[in-house]
Amino acid sequence: MTIDTNIIYLKGVGPQRADILAKEYDIHTYGDLLHYFPFRMIDRSHVSTLDNFNPEEPYLVFRGHISELHTITTGHSTRLEATFSDNTGTMSLVWFQGLKWLKEFLRSNVLYNVMGKPTLYGSTYQIAHPDIEIATPEEGKTVHPFLPVYRTTEKSKSRGITSRNIARYTETLLSQMPPRLPETLPQTVISKYKLMDGTTALRNMHYPPTLQAWQQAMFREKFEELFFHQLEYQYSRTARRNHSVGNVFNIVGRHFNDFYRNNLPFALTNAQKRVIKEIRADMRTGRQMNRLLQGDVGSGKTLVALLTMLIALDNGFQACLMAPTEILASQHFASFQKLLQGLDIRVDLLVGALKPSQKKSIKQRLANGDIDILIGTHALIEDSVQFKQLGYVVIDEQHRFGVEQRAKLWKKSATPPHILVMTATPIPRTLAMTLYADLECSVIDELPPGRRPVITTHGTDTNRLRLFEFMKQQIAAGRQIYVVYPLINESETLDLKDIMDGYESISRSFPQPQYQISIVHGQMPAEAKAYEMDRFKRGETQIMVSTTVIEVGVDVPNATVMVIENAERFGLSQLHQLRGRVGRGGSQSYCILMTKEELSHNSQQRIQTMCSTTDGFAIAEADLRLRGPGDLQGLQQSGMLNLKVADIVDDEPLVRATRDEVHDLLDADPDLKRPENRILQQYIKQTGSSQQWGKIS
Ligand code: ADP
Ligand code: MG
Repeated sequence: MTIDTNIIYLKGVGPQRADILAKEYDIHTYGDLLHYFPFRMIDRSHVSTLDNFNPEEPYLVFRGHISELHTITTGHSTRLEATFSDNTGTMSLVWFQGLKWLKEFLRSNVLYNVMGKPTLYGSTYQIAHPDIEIATPEEGKTVHPFLPVYRTTEKSKSRGITSRNIARYTETLLSQMPPRLPETLPQTVISKYKLMDGTTALRNMHYPPTLQAWQQAMFREKFEELFFHQLEYQYSRTARRNHSVGNVFNIVGRHFNDFYRNNLPFALTNAQKRVIKEIRADMRTGRQMNRLLQGDVGSGKTLVALLTMLIALDNGFQACLMAPTEILASQHFASFQKLLQGLDIRVDLLVGALKPSQKKSIKQRLANGDIDILIGTHALIEDSVQFKQLGYVVIDEQHRFGVEQRAKLWKKSATPPHILVMTATPIPRTLAMTLYADLECSVIDELPPGRRPVITTHGTDTNRLRLFEFMKQQIAAGRQIYVVYPLINESETLDLKDIMDGYESISRSFPQPQYQISIVHGQMPAEAKAYEMDRFKRGETQIMVSTTVIEVGVDVPNATVMVIENAERFGLSQLHQLRGRVGRGGSQSYCILMTKEELSHNSQQRIQTMCSTTDGFAIAEADLRLRGPGDLQGLQQSGMLNLKVADIVDDEPLVRATRDEVHDLLDADPDLKRPENRILQQYIKQTGSSQQWGKIS
């Protein structure tokens, strides 16, 4: 046997069950089965007695004898009932399936372990479909002190594969397994971290002699999982660094300097300066840049994008900026035009709403090199959009862009363009360490001067009158206000009803002509949306009622109040994004989270987090803890979701240890040529990680 042997050949499996294992558990080979780990162990050595057990326990072990076996038929159903007794009492066992086998298996003079959860049936306890096994080993067989419990699906159980079956398969497989499988980790690493050897760990993951041995095995498996994840990512990053070809931007020239001298509207923050330096250094190396720029909302990422684009221009290349929505693209276009006033830089905007003739003209000028900077949405990556000399791509708010969409960018020029992905959703440190182990990272950890933290409060309907009073005061002081409604699904009429009801109620309390109100939601045509946004931006309307279309990036510094309705329906990162729409000017800003009275524990925690901090990283960490990594935006495409044993939240110390270990290892031996690292090189070859470096962006 090898770990690649098809599971169909394992005793007791066969074609039908192999099919279930494949479909329900993705188990195709012996190796897959070995790596399908139990999530719980039943301690057989801990036996309860029938006169004194805890009925609250989900699973108990009893030891005793079977007597009085009856087959009972009522209507169409037949069941098997047995009386089971230990020295202290009796209870009944009942089965509805597998009766024939049971009648042969159960004998009166044999000591059994009977396992399950007893429930009260009439006045006596009973276990339906207990797990049952012979307590004393048959000849040549051992009884393991622990019984592994595996996760199973409904479908699998209904088709005859239970946790117990899987436990039997793993037992069979382990009994056939050679005493030593090839080791998967370098011996140096094993000794350094005092890891259990690979074969023993695999055995102990299923049938450990002690709980401690199970935990040691678990540690080894988690280590191994995180280690190889890091190896794949970091190896591809190293390979990209060492082998990829990128445009060399070694000139900082006219465009950059003119802008810096004449057009820069304010002094850069130290964080902006540092990040620009990092990007400049990266663009000079002759290797293609793949960089993630993290910066909280309002930290001034746009200016970083613009300044670094000017470097591309200075080196004779075009640049483009992709935004997730047309509103944002238009807004970037407007602010670029304003910022670049008086400089001979040709900026244009390509969005879906343009007339075909306009689009055609833009594409022509782009191909001729008559456009220096193109701003747009996904429209930019359509095949028909051809650049003359694309050198640099900035992607704003990356969570909205899929991986394949980004991959399309690579086809746009012979040498892949430098890429900067900007995100305002701070990524918890552990996640960044794993998820983005293949990207360089820059962080703007400082807001422009003069910003005052937004004051956040929580309110319910009973506070609504006071809220409206407060809004009126702010409007009287010349400020503007957002009122945001959640959006679960743009096509849901329910969502539309929510916002329309809200709009009406606000219109009643804020009557025209004294007050002007804008409304923007996903079902409006793009021009209507843009029109309303413009009115609000120009200060012609005081209140903007909207769904989350304004979530990302919209910039109206005069807006100082963000009211979020049904705030309990938003996730933390979304609440944080929305709050970032205010507090952009110098005035004190407010965020009011309106919820219903009764909140779930989880919603309460989210609201509390928002009221107690404005630090995006703290919020991201809280989000990760409350929701788990599976729900975090942007994670769907990442390998981190496929972790089987490790947990990036609970196992943070291990995440760090493996990251550092892999880092040092690749530093000393980037091509994994040393004899002790040869198994790692084999792993890389098998997984094809070395081929992937060109695709990641
Ligand atoms: P984000 O990082 O959220 O994209 P923006 O780039 O939209 O942030 O910047 C937010 C606001 O801060 C804008 O109004 C911008 O003009 C302003 N800003 C950016 N950098 C600075 C700075 N160094 N000093 C003062 N204001 C700045
Ligand atoms: Mg932005």
